[in-house]
Amino acid sequence: MDNQFIAHTKPLAGESPAQKNNMLLHPCSNRYSAIKCNWSTSSSDDTQCISCKSTRMIPDQNDPKNAHRWMVLERAKRQLFMTLLSLKLPIEDFHQTPGGLAFEFLEDKRSNPNIMLDHVLTGHSNGTITLNAAEADEGFLHVMKEQMGETYRTILGHFRHEVGHYYWGIVINDDYKLSQFRELFGDERQDYGEALERYYNQPKRNFKSSQFITQYASSHPLEDWAESWAHYLHIVDTLETAVSYGLSAYEPKINDFDNWYSEWARVAQTMNALNRSMGLSDAYPFILTEIVRAKLHFIDYLIDGFAKKG
Ligand SMILES: [Zn+2]
Ligand SMILES: [Zn+2]
Repeated sequence: MDNQFIAHTKPLAGESPAQKNNMLLHPCSNRYSAIKCNWSTSSSDDTQCISCKSTRMIPDQNDPKNAHRWMVLERAKRQLFMTLLSLKLPIEDFHQTPGGLAFEFLEDKRSNPNIMLDHVLTGHSNGTITLNAAEADEGFLHVMKEQMGETYRTILGHFRHEVGHYYWGIVINDDYKLSQFRELFGDERQDYGEALERYYNQPKRNFKSSQFITQYASSHPLEDWAESWAHYLHIVDTLETAVSYGLSAYEPKINDFDNWYSEWARVAQTMNALNRSMGLSDAYPFILTEIVRAKLHFIDYLIDGFAKKG
């Protein structure tokens, strides 16, 4: 979904929080940069909007390819932020607090021979989300899809997954929630490095499991969490869009979980059928089992707890 497009066609969805509250607005200083940001800020202390502020590193802008990559990456990031704001999740960036959200878009040798680094790995560490800027290139993304055996791979999907790691430490904030997490996802204290090595050494095709939303989710409980979190965000955002275009009468966060979850099954089926009519692959090629449903319900309960506090 094109965030720039939404800003003009979907009421409120493309607006920054300042715009929604009718405050004195200043256009984001990136409005006239390569990324053409269409958000604003209400604070005279901030020259950049809430999304742009969270970017700490961008690839060398002397290369025109990187200007395009940065634009594609920021557009997906604003889409991510829209959902985080709509869910009333706390957002603190690295300027505000140590370990706050920071995005670093890097290059490696595969896309730029002048770079020392062999491989930029997409990941999260203590609030910092790192992404290979080349993921913004259709060709690179396609090769990665093939190599990793992933039918669905997008920049927005990366952001939603990685931010799930960030929010794990925020929404699971007491022992009771932690024990509930372990019951559903498993014990996150199992060795992460070993689990990932095991995962990368196994064949990636024809994965079928009632326990996990994706094959990667089976690698470690924290990856299962991040994959499930990403799907929760996919569903909330896509259902909101379906409602705003008259394709669904449901409001994800107003109706209770059971209602909007079954509405999602209907909307996903519609999207897949529409794509098939256009000769495209399924928009949502995933099976939501009862076990996966329980994981998404748990995430819904945790996020609701934060929204109520706000
Ligand atoms: Zn901006
Ligand atoms: Zn992960």
